[in-house]
Amino acid sequence: MKRTTIIIMVLSLMVAALTQVFALSEIRTVLVPYSPEYEARVVSNLMNEYAKVSQHTLSYEDVRCNIKKLREWGMPEERMLTLTIDDVRTFLRDLTREGMHLTLSENEKITTKETTPLSTERELELELIQRILKEKGLTIEQFNSLINMSNDIDDIIAMSNAEIADIFSGTTTPPSKGLHTYYGNIPYFGGDGSTAFDTSINISSTYIQNYCNLSKDFSEYVLNRTYNNASTYSSQNIRFSYYLFGEYDNQIGGVHEGVDIHDANDSDRAIRSAHPGKIIGVGGTYGVVQVFDDFENWTVTYMHLDTSANGYSVDDYINRGSNLGNQDNTGLPSTSGNHLHTQVVFGETTNTPSGQNMTLSSEFPYYVLTWYLP
Ligand SMILES: [Zn+2]
Repeated sequence: MKRTTIIIMVLSLMVAALTQVFALSEIRTVLVPYSPEYEARVVSNLMNEYAKVSQHTLSYEDVRCNIKKLREWGMPEERMLTLTIDDVRTFLRDLTREGMHLTLSENEKITTKETTPLSTERELELELIQRILKEKGLTIEQFNSLINMSNDIDDIIAMSNAEIADIFSGTTTPPSKGLHTYYGNIPYFGGDGSTAFDTSINISSTYIQNYCNLSKDFSEYVLNRTYNNASTYSSQNIRFSYYLFGEYDNQIGGVHEGVDIHDANDSDRAIRSAHPGKIIGVGGTYGVVQVFDDFENWTVTYMHLDTSANGYSVDDYINRGSNLGNQDNTGLPSTSGNHLHTQVVFGETTNTPSGQNMTLSSEFPYYVLTWYLP
């Protein structure tokens, strides 16, 4: 090898090593502790990205809310300064993609066939469960519901058949297709015992709790009222978790495709939008206001409103906090009562499915509803 060749090789190795050092130090500069200047750069980067796809200029505060949510939901800080629209969209989609949140709990595993060899302990437990099912005349769904109501196996053994019958007396009867599975004792739901969900959604208690917490955040914002944490359903000021996405709905005879919330103190409560965006539908039989978010490419529908006073037309842009109308029962049978139905649909669409058999496999709609909230 010529001497010049060796020198060139050594030099290029040194350059490569130096590049490596600079690359590392660049990452470190991003990880400096919070400063107003740094935050302003993060916000302005995302605002510029919005401007590429949206005719609507988002407020600085709305973008700051998005950034807060991205951090809470696990976006690494070193990506914040260079986020693109595609990064954000992919991140949000992946957040709750099927598989990530579909790890079945121990209680749910017993409804499936085990293919791996069982440990002796597990075999004994399954045997015990089979015996309880037989002795108490329980279905596996009912057994799961009892477990989800914070009973352990010993508690269930100690229950009399009359006690069990009592627990399930208010139970919704699921459709015969076997597409639904029971869940009991929904947080904040109050008093109704078990309910049925589409089997495509994760019904473990952790995720039901998360659905409810996100619904609560959303409800408090759109109703501009704080939930009063009452211990009984009848004294709750906000009844925000009936029905949840994927819950079996007696009235429509299918799966509910949104979240129903109800201001129980003020039947005509003003509803404020949780989203900035373009109005693509307003009024009509069901009293809708449909807000298309052209950054995230989804439509949020607010339904059963009295929209007569809001003054909006299709193609108007609104802000987070805009008054959409008043809580009402537009389009509902008079027996249903005033409440707000909210629904998330991908893309720009005025089509609102009537509530039949939509499968849900993630918490995505719940994240969408809170994406702009402070
Ligand atoms: Zn509804």
